[in-house]
Amino acid sequence: MPRRQLPFFENVTILDAGAEGKAVARVNDLVVFVPFCVPGDVVDIQVISKRKSYCEGKAVKFHVYSDLRVEPFCEHFGTCGGCRWQNLSYEQQLKYKQKQVDDHFTRIGKFSFPALLPILPSPLVTGYRNKLEYTFSDRRWLNAEDMAMPDEDRQGNGLGFHIPTLFDRVLDIKHCYHQPEPSNAIRLAVRDFTLQKGWSYYNPRSHEGFMRNLLIRNTLAGDWMVIVVFAYDAPVEIALLMNFLAESFPQLSSLIYVVNTKLNDVITDQEMLLWKGKPYITEFMEAPVEGGRRLEFRIGPVSFFQTNPMQAGNLYKTAFDMAGFKGDELVYDLYCGTGTITNFVAPYVKKAVGVEYVPSAIEDAHTNSALNQIVNTVYYAGDLAKVLDDAFVLQNGHPDVIITDPPRNGMHESVVKQILLIEPEKIVYVSCNTATQARDIALMIEKYEVTAVQPVDMFPHTHHVENVALLTLRK
Ligand code: SAH
Repeated sequence: MPRRQLPFFENVTILDAGAEGKAVARVNDLVVFVPFCVPGDVVDIQVISKRKSYCEGKAVKFHVYSDLRVEPFCEHFGTCGGCRWQNLSYEQQLKYKQKQVDDHFTRIGKFSFPALLPILPSPLVTGYRNKLEYTFSDRRWLNAEDMAMPDEDRQGNGLGFHIPTLFDRVLDIKHCYHQPEPSNAIRLAVRDFTLQKGWSYYNPRSHEGFMRNLLIRNTLAGDWMVIVVFAYDAPVEIALLMNFLAESFPQLSSLIYVVNTKLNDVITDQEMLLWKGKPYITEFMEAPVEGGRRLEFRIGPVSFFQTNPMQAGNLYKTAFDMAGFKGDELVYDLYCGTGTITNFVAPYVKKAVGVEYVPSAIEDAHTNSALNQIVNTVYYAGDLAKVLDDAFVLQNGHPDVIITDPPRNGMHESVVKQILLIEPEKIVYVSCNTATQARDIALMIEKYEVTAVQPVDMFPHTHHVENVALLTLRK
C-alpha cells in the first residue's frame, strides 16, 4: 500500500514503553508501536506499516512532551540503534522493565506467580559494557547537516555501528558511552590513522575496501583486547597500524588481527593472529558466599562473556541463592556457554554438568574449570534438543537442580518435555527474553510452581531485561 493511504492518527497519547524498545499507543482497538516516544507524550502518528492487529508508526508531531522525559545524554540518540530508552530516566526505565516481566508472565504465561522482587539496578549505567564491535564502511550514514554539504567536502567513510535495519549503512560514532575509556580513544585513533593514510573502508555490497571491523574488549581487572579485521592481507599496512596501536595504547594486553576475505563479517571461524601480548584477557568474579574463592575467567577473542560483567556477578548470585544449595546436589547447567555459571556454582555442590552447542565455548569452559582448580565439572558440546535424553541422565546422574539460560528464542519444546520427565526438585530459569520464558514456564506449570521471580537490569538505556525465575516441583 502506498504510504499516503496509510492512516494518520492525531493527538494520540503514548501509553507504555513496550517490546523491542518501541513505545505503545492504542487507537480504537489497534495497537500502534512508535519508536523514540515516552509514555505520556501526545503525538500525531503517521502509520508506516499496518498488520491486522497492530501497526508501526512514526511520531511526526509532538503536542505534549511527557513529564517522564529526560534529555538523552548521547549525541547519537535517535539515529543509533543502541540506547533507545535514553529519553527515560533510569528510574523509569527500571519501572517499565519490571512491568514488562509482569506483563509477559501475566499475558503470555497466564500462570500464577509471586509478586516480583524489585528489579536489581545495574551498578553502572554508563561504561558498563566489556565489548563493542564496530564496522568500517565507505557508506557512512549522512545526517541533514552532511546532506547540505557539497559532495566533494563530504567524508563518506565511517567507523561505528550499523544503522538499524540497514546492513550497509554505518553511523560514524563520535562518542559511545557504553564502554569505559580508552575505548573511544582507541576507535578514534584507528579512524584518524586509517583516514590519514587514505586506506579504503569496506563496502558490503561490492566487497571492496581494506578496513573491515574493530572489536574492543576489556575486563574489570583492567585488561584490554583490540582485534582489527582487515579484508585482505597487506603486511606492510597491517604492521603500520598494529605498531601504531601498540605504541599509542601501551595498556593493551592483547592485540590481535584477522584477515577476513569471506563475504560475511563472522570471524569465529577465522585465524586470530596475535600481534602483541596474550591471546586472551582475564576477568575475575567474586564468590557467591562470604569467604569463597573468587573465580578467574580467560576470555579469548571470540569467547562469550556476559557483557555487563559487574552485574553478571549479581545475576549469577541471584540464580545461586534461588537454588539454595546445601552442598550435595547434582546440578545441570543448560546452555552453559563458556561454563561461567557451571564454575560459579561447582565449588558449592557435588557435581555440575554443563551443556552447550558451541564446541569452542566448551573448550573455554574446560579451561576455566582448570584455571580455578575446579574438578567436579563435566561438559558436553551438543544440541540440547538431542543431547538431553534418558541415556544422558543415566550417564550423568539425576539432577537435583537444573539451571537453564537459553538464548532469546527460549528452550526447544523437546528440551522442556525432557526437563519435565527428569523432574528435578528445582529449576532456575535465567532468561534474556521474558516472552519466551513465560511461554516455556507455562508448559511446565502443572508440575512446577513459580516460587520467586527476580528481574535484573543488565543493559541500562535499552529495553532488554534479564529475569531469573525459580520453579519448585509441586508435591
Ligand atoms: N549461561 C551462559 C551463556 C548463555 S547464552 C553465561 O551466562 O555465560 C546461551 C547459550 O546457549 C549460548 O552460548 C548458545 O551458544 C547456547 N545454545 C543456543 N542454542 C543451543 C542449543 N540448541 N543447544 C545447546 N546450546 C545452545
